[in-house]
Amino acid sequence: MIARVSLEIALRKEFDYSIPAALAGQVDVGSRVQVPFGPRKILGVVTAVAEESGHANLKPILKVIGAQTLVTPKVLKLARWIGEYYCCAPETALKSVLPEAVRKEDAGWRERLYVRALPVVGEFPKLPKRQQEVWNVIEERRELPLAELLELTQTTAATVRKLEDRRLVEITAEISERDPYAKETILATLPLVVNPAQAVALAKITAAMDDGEDGRLKMEDGQRRPSTILHPPSSTFLLHGVTGSGKTEVYLQAIEHALAQGKGAIVLVPEISLTPQTVERFKARFSSGKLQTLVAVLHSHLSAGERHDEWHKIRDGRARIVIGARSAIFAPVEPLGLIIVDEEHEHSYKQEEAPRYHARDVAIMRGQMENAVVVLGSATPSLESYANCKKGKFTLLDLPERVDNQKMPHVRVVDMRQTVRDGKGPPIFSPQLKEAITQRLERGEQTILFLNRRGYSTSLQCPKCGYVAECPNCSVSLTYHRTEQKLSCHICGHNEKVPAVCPEPKCKNPAIRFAGTGTQKVEEVLTKIFPKARVKRMDADTMKRKDDYRRVLGDFRVGKTDILLGTQMIAKGLHFPNVTLVGIIYADMALHQPDFRAGERTFQLLTQVAGRAGRGDVEGEVFVQAFTPFHPAIQFARRHDFVGFYEQELEFREQLKYPPFSRVALLTLKGRNEEKVKFSAEHLKRELEKKLTELKDVTLAGPAPAPLLRAENFYRYQIMLRTRAMSALSRELAKMVETLLLPDDVTLAVDIDPVDLG
Ligand code: ADP
Ligand code: ZN
Repeated sequence: MIARVSLEIALRKEFDYSIPAALAGQVDVGSRVQVPFGPRKILGVVTAVAEESGHANLKPILKVIGAQTLVTPKVLKLARWIGEYYCCAPETALKSVLPEAVRKEDAGWRERLYVRALPVVGEFPKLPKRQQEVWNVIEERRELPLAELLELTQTTAATVRKLEDRRLVEITAEISERDPYAKETILATLPLVVNPAQAVALAKITAAMDDGEDGRLKMEDGQRRPSTILHPPSSTFLLHGVTGSGKTEVYLQAIEHALAQGKGAIVLVPEISLTPQTVERFKARFSSGKLQTLVAVLHSHLSAGERHDEWHKIRDGRARIVIGARSAIFAPVEPLGLIIVDEEHEHSYKQEEAPRYHARDVAIMRGQMENAVVVLGSATPSLESYANCKKGKFTLLDLPERVDNQKMPHVRVVDMRQTVRDGKGPPIFSPQLKEAITQRLERGEQTILFLNRRGYSTSLQCPKCGYVAECPNCSVSLTYHRTEQKLSCHICGHNEKVPAVCPEPKCKNPAIRFAGTGTQKVEEVLTKIFPKARVKRMDADTMKRKDDYRRVLGDFRVGKTDILLGTQMIAKGLHFPNVTLVGIIYADMALHQPDFRAGERTFQLLTQVAGRAGRGDVEGEVFVQAFTPFHPAIQFARRHDFVGFYEQELEFREQLKYPPFSRVALLTLKGRNEEKVKFSAEHLKRELEKKLTELKDVTLAGPAPAPLLRAENFYRYQIMLRTRAMSALSRELAKMVETLLLPDDVTLAVDIDPVDLG
């Protein structure tokens, strides 16, 4: 027998190897294997097994990794689709479907040594005192981990080995599984009685799950399935509900339905929402009862070993539910009944390096392949998903109200242009917001302030000669960090000292100025205006250690903090009943970015941040400070008018043929020499134009310098392609990428359905 293997090194080719007799029966499609490749030993995945090969003199497979196939045929199929659609080498796609810890063999099972008492044969020997003491403990416990025994008896392994020599005990290595949540105590919960809106949503979701089931059963009976059941009219749902409307409860009960059908579920959440509380809610519901199962968790904060063990709990079928970030979409749950993508609009679902897949879109594809129902949830769905509902591809489910019938917060837009006085720039706090904070402090209520920019000032300028401190590696100005007394680049991390005078040799002006406001400066001004207030800042600069996040939020929850100030870190999923005021310092910041999604992003961010206010008994209030107060993204967010915003945004996108009215492929060329990059981009454009005449319906724009022309010392030029038939375009692009001749130091990245145009 021979095996076809996709190697981990990107060659866009598969190679045949022979299966040695010793490994027969262990090698199957999806097995991870080690094979010789030239002088090296390389890891790969078996993609096919056959009787014979067209090649002679095959080298043998050296080793099989793992006791079972690691890539299931279904996941293999999904990986192939990713390679094709996202235009990357198949081995790159394959690599991403297994966690690093599972792929590499070294972070395998943790073996622990156990000591076990053996039956005493004949007369019990007379032991030295120390050995007798150790024996007494072993005899009582019969079996215990060696480490624990040493700890208990304050002895060394050598003493225990002596007992082993006397055949009184045996020491064996056993696998002991790591459990990242072992320290949490989890109390079981029961399903809540759903409210009418939840009931409608749940009924539609479970009905679709039953349809899928019927289809399967009928096929097993050998009957023909009506085509509507083969492809249920829509087994993808968009669950639109404000925060606190009970979406999670719907997810939980839908998962219950999947378990009752004997199937499993995958729950995707953005990394940042993967808090212990979220995980606990899922674990708690399925920790007891008839449908009890393990809930595996996959995210980047686990150790390699923990990730390895969690993954194998899924592969073994002991965990039928997995909750995780982006890459959990590849978890080998089988059979799969349900996929949930919470906060589906989140851009973090898109991987920014090859394979540049979008986990939401992969989820929909996997759902179709495995006949699983997909539920996308959000308070602020992406325009793409909303449009899919209008087209009838997805079914829209609405949870229009909060479970506790709380009103939506009252949003006031403050026109910051009115606050600008002669000769002075605008203040950070409008009089209205200042007054509102004062009231909260007096009443003992809490405030959240939001500004999506860390540091003190965003630039250092010389008013005399016009000098601006810029990063030497990137085309951005350096941000001033006051506490650390440094200028730093938020793109590449470059740091430098703050100059005392203007560095221009001819200028040397001592009166250099800082401009633009970051969270550090807001914090400083805040403590000046409200000296008694207890203020905490939460951004990438203050959240350095793993438990910082937990601690700051914990303090805020119990009322040790009056005002929480932060970047987008505080925008998501936090529930604080005593917060009655939210202030957005500079709402139009995201509007002025050169990205067709700027309006959508602003609307989503404002809605999410505003949703933090008024979760208790008091109605919340939100102040939105803006210099373009009449921008639709701000006005529709003020009125909580989701449909209004989406409808007008759709019009704008349709006029300009942007997604969802087209799909985009962004080609970025980068290199250290700008002229070469530019030249290569022109060359690529000509090649594309030649090829694309065959493909109708593709528009090409560019090449143009990327919005951020230089990053980490690389110049970047972009070409944007738009089409309504992306699969056909991807195929063409893949062929081109293989044959395109570029200078050695210029690289091309293809991003299908990009979310970041920077
Ligand atoms: P979302 O996921 O939309 O933010 P959650 O599911 O977290 O909403 O619900 C918000 C709160 O309301 C939670 O504390 C949840 O336990 C509670 N809740 C949800 N559904 C119900 C219900 N039907 N009856 C009572 N409480 C509910
Ligand atoms: Zn830089």
